Amino acid sequence: MFTNILGYPRIGNRRQLKTACENYWAGKASLRDLQLTANEIRLHNWKLQQEAGVDLIPSNDFSLYDQVLDMCLAVSAIPHRYHSLIEELKLNETDLYFAMARGYQKNGYDITAMEMTKWFDTNYHYIVPEFYAGQKFNLLSDKAIKEFKEAKQHGIHTKPVIVGPVSFLLLGKEKEKGFHRIELLKNLLPVYVQLLKQLLEEGATCIQIDEPCLALNLEDAERLAFKWTYEELYKQLPKLNVILTSYFECYGENLQTVLQLPVQAIHLDLVRCSGQLDDILQSSFVSSSKKLSLGVVDGRNIWKNNFEKSLGFINCAVETLGKERVMIGTSCSLLHVPCDLEEETLLTPEIKDWLAFAAQKVQEVITLKKAVDGDESVKGLLEANKQSVISRSTSTLIHNQEVKKRVAAVTIDDASRRSTFDKRQLVQHANLKLPLFPTTTIGSFPQTVDVRKLRAQVKQKAITKTAYQQALEEETVRCIRLQEELGLDVLVHGEFERNDMVEYFGEQLQGYAFTKDGWVQSYGSRCVKPPVIYGDVYRPEPMTVNWITFAQSQTGKYVKGMLTGPVTMLQWSFVRDDQPRETTAMQLALAIRDEVRDLEFEGIKIIQIDEPAIREGLPLRKENHAAYLNWAVKAFKVASCGVADGIQIHTHMCYSKFNDIIDSIAAMDADVITIETSRSQMELLDAFAKFDYPNEIGPGVYDIHSPRVPTSEEMELLLEKALKVIDAKNLWVNPDCGLKTRGWKETEDALRNMMLATKNLRNKV
Ligand code: GLN
Ligand code: ZN
Repeated sequence: MFTNILGYPRIGNRRQLKTACENYWAGKASLRDLQLTANEIRLHNWKLQQEAGVDLIPSNDFSLYDQVLDMCLAVSAIPHRYHSLIEELKLNETDLYFAMARGYQKNGYDITAMEMTKWFDTNYHYIVPEFYAGQKFNLLSDKAIKEFKEAKQHGIHTKPVIVGPVSFLLLGKEKEKGFHRIELLKNLLPVYVQLLKQLLEEGATCIQIDEPCLALNLEDAERLAFKWTYEELYKQLPKLNVILTSYFECYGENLQTVLQLPVQAIHLDLVRCSGQLDDILQSSFVSSSKKLSLGVVDGRNIWKNNFEKSLGFINCAVETLGKERVMIGTSCSLLHVPCDLEEETLLTPEIKDWLAFAAQKVQEVITLKKAVDGDESVKGLLEANKQSVISRSTSTLIHNQEVKKRVAAVTIDDASRRSTFDKRQLVQHANLKLPLFPTTTIGSFPQTVDVRKLRAQVKQKAITKTAYQQALEEETVRCIRLQEELGLDVLVHGEFERNDMVEYFGEQLQGYAFTKDGWVQSYGSRCVKPPVIYGDVYRPEPMTVNWITFAQSQTGKYVKGMLTGPVTMLQWSFVRDDQPRETTAMQLALAIRDEVRDLEFEGIKIIQIDEPAIREGLPLRKENHAAYLNWAVKAFKVASCGVADGIQIHTHMCYSKFNDIIDSIAAMDADVITIETSRSQMELLDAFAKFDYPNEIGPGVYDIHSPRVPTSEEMELLLEKALKVIDAKNLWVNPDCGLKTRGWKETEDALRNMMLATKNLRNKV
């Protein structure tokens, strides 16, 4: 019985890869320095797995930026705009690679980066391959081979991991009209054959081919493409030993196709889809000679494995297939969890005992195998695991009966406003008396180095809490004055007290824990440190009331209360796996509801509840969309609906396509929604127009991701475009998103222009 790790985190225990890449990009380190760091990380990961006793240790799971971009370079899928960099500048492979990832603005060139998008339903972003009609491929980068050889030199026999050809095409985008990227398979496959052949020649005995698109709802033609590809590979390379992997979901209606593919092993993510194990064990799979890789150790979350449960699955498979045909592994690559729990000193011992990061998960896989083999040496570990599981299921740190009762008692009334939008709008317009096209911002103002320094100082106790408070108050007052001077209609306090829109609230809620180094790669050198929701969530005391009422006391204009919504809190945290996500979302919703009502009680008339992550929580398979949207909308409504008709509830969303969930956005029934639209030239509004979205909308009029100051004419044009599809009485004017990453000067200039655009528009209508 083999143990199988699908991939290991590549940023390094102390985010060495981040530092190394950023130093290289800044010209502070040589290519050699970068390569040395990369070598060290790879060796560390391989050794760790070898010493643990892993049979199938991955190689080529490492990447300097992204595994899909690696594949682009491997098969030479290089968009035309970079060709001049190769021909004229003769960039080396690494620099070309980074140019594709990050753009190239040097030496008189200005070439944009390739697009980036979320990797399935994770917070990891991959680089989107770009395809042209009739595109030819050839084997360019031999990274996979090099890394296999590198491990071999250290005496470690690895299992190369590559992104499969069908998913590689499906994950990309056509850059020309008139063809479908799947048609390129015929050109692409020979390059894969060449690559795989070289790996065989180097001595690779088993290759992991990742085809995660098999977790999606596919068209018949796409399923046929899988069939054709793997039959062709088998024909051309009969000695190839392939573990075909997909993860994050069941194979669903693709299962029959998958079972027919001439591969030697298939992988099943049993964390996300345990039901399909039975289907497979009752299918033609049993009479074949194929192996089954059981993904029992969760690669997406930080909880310790429940050995008893995993052994149940494994024993069931072993009974039917025999040990030789079963592999024990992680559910997906461990890329999505932090490196090593041992390094955590912030967590209380009780909570730490419930967790496992990548290094611990490797050990879990090994322990499970030993347990199945009846190895006496793991008896203690099995017993300890049982104790951890019991501790977690009964701990008073986790379980709070009051919270559970409150969730159970939520009614339809809690999730609806007292009156419908048309009535509320009348009340709100009469009370608030805002001008036509009210102007506002999304919440944060520039978080300068000075503000962040203050936060670091108070953390290290270098300044007192009072001094910190005072400094932030001054910053807030300055921000209010600036907004008054610019003439904005609805002000914000600026969010200077917030490190991050999730962490800030998590720190004030019960049931949340924070790690010291629990970093996970988000994209390239960027990492995030998601907080951990370990227990029933509640709000011991108000979280934002002091800041908002302070800001409100400084001005005669309205200041918006500013909160993060329940779905975003959930989505950007590591969540409990011992209750449905829906339940955790409802607990968060109730905590935020209390905050919303406290703000109302303190006289705040406008309250914004940000939900930028609502779209990304959408399940991978369509049949699961409705259930998710149902509870996600309900959570938002429970958070927002506890107030009187006159209170104007705003929400904000960004990074989103909305067309497929527009009815759910409408069902959220926020009085005002502000959305990111400027980069799409208001095209995003079409979805709202088509749907006849009834509530007020603030389509962002300028991109906050760039330091560029847009002219008032540009913004006026965008607003005019918006007016074609939105009723004048429903149109707000605001930037695309919060301004925390911008500088003060450009923020001021851009907002001044935005105000001018609004003034001109008001004069016109
Ligand atoms: N209120 C938050 C801010 O302005 C919203 C951030 C977001 O949408 N990502 O920073
Ligand atoms: Zn935003």
